[in-house]
Amino acid sequence: MRATDLGPCSRDPRGRDAEVMRTGLPSVPLGRVRGIGVGAHWSTIVAVLVMAQVVAVSVLPRAAPGHPASAYWVAGVLASLAFMLSLLAHELAHALTAQRFDITVTRIDLWLLGGVSRLSSPPRAPRAEFLIAVAGPATSVVVGVLAGAAGTVLAAWGAPALVVSPVLWLAVTNGVLAVFNLVPAAPLDGGRVLAAAVWWRTGDERRGTAVAAVAGKAFGLVLAAAGLAQVFAGAVSGLWLVLLGAYLVVSGAAEQSAGEVRHRLGGLLVRDVMTADPMIAPGWWTVRGFLRGLVSGPHRRVFPVVSFDGTVLGVVSLAELARVDDPLTTRISDACRALPDVPVASPEEPLVDLLARTPLGRGRDVVLVLRGPNLAGVVGPEDVAWALELSRSVPIEHHEVTS
Ligand SMILES: [Zn+2]
Repeated sequence: MRATDLGPCSRDPRGRDAEVMRTGLPSVPLGRVRGIGVGAHWSTIVAVLVMAQVVAVSVLPRAAPGHPASAYWVAGVLASLAFMLSLLAHELAHALTAQRFDITVTRIDLWLLGGVSRLSSPPRAPRAEFLIAVAGPATSVVVGVLAGAAGTVLAAWGAPALVVSPVLWLAVTNGVLAVFNLVPAAPLDGGRVLAAAVWWRTGDERRGTAVAAVAGKAFGLVLAAAGLAQVFAGAVSGLWLVLLGAYLVVSGAAEQSAGEVRHRLGGLLVRDVMTADPMIAPGWWTVRGFLRGLVSGPHRRVFPVVSFDGTVLGVVSLAELARVDDPLTTRISDACRALPDVPVASPEEPLVDLLARTPLGRGRDVVLVLRGPNLAGVVGPEDVAWALELSRSVPIEHHEVTS
């Protein structure tokens, strides 16, 4: 649809990609639970196959001998899929507990090394941090006990070992999942429990995050070293531990710097760092006319787009304007990204909450700050960098609202 006069911006066809970039994982949607999108990254298939292979090749031929390989593989794939469901239950337990503390959960993704629940903001108190963290392993323990009981009952009823063994494997694997995740090392659940404990004892959230992050990096190095030793001893499966260890080291470091940023920007609201009264792109102008005016203008690359009556329509970037085929006749309102695809914040929102739900970067180059229907300002990567660098030496304080 090509709008003619003061029409709205088009819906960004890349909106979905932008979402992918934001979450970091292009995820296949599986459904929604209580408003939380659940998806699986393609690497989940690798995880399912690796676990199915363990059951089909190592577990079942010993526990239930005398069956064809195809029977082992069918049972292995079913057991592996059941494990993925129990992993989802673990993640949902984190997510639903977070919702009870009024934290929005944007989505849950399964991937190669497990599951990730994405919270829109970090817990505000050690108790919330602790309960959200333990909900996952507690659920895995419950699932493990139920599977163990089911396996025992099936065995007592005389069910074939080919059925009983995968159920018992599911019980043991859920137990291992709970125990492994309770190792006190970020980003594992046990790391969050440790962070919550230090936070509760010292009243210092940053210290909790830092302690858990250091433990995470150390545990990651130990795992990677153990994996390498296995590989040198001839066990290729050690590569799995190397991968897991490397992931823990990288995530531990990321959590530490995120904690540092939270601490430095912790007291700030969006209005404290936004660029107020930014240069706007009038939606009714032609692309060519606007671009000509920019030659001597401010060196901005992204502009809020407003209609003739002042309604905020969306956002347009210099790159998008430069791609327009017919700049002489195309209006800016026909070239811009419409509001639903552009992140929006209120001036009174805590800055760290905004950054948690909308990391600024490729595809997310600006956040529109709206006071009611009106444009109050914009927040871009430059504004955040300004706040981070300035706060190293001078505390940035709230601007008082005068209007
Ligand atoms: Zn967990």
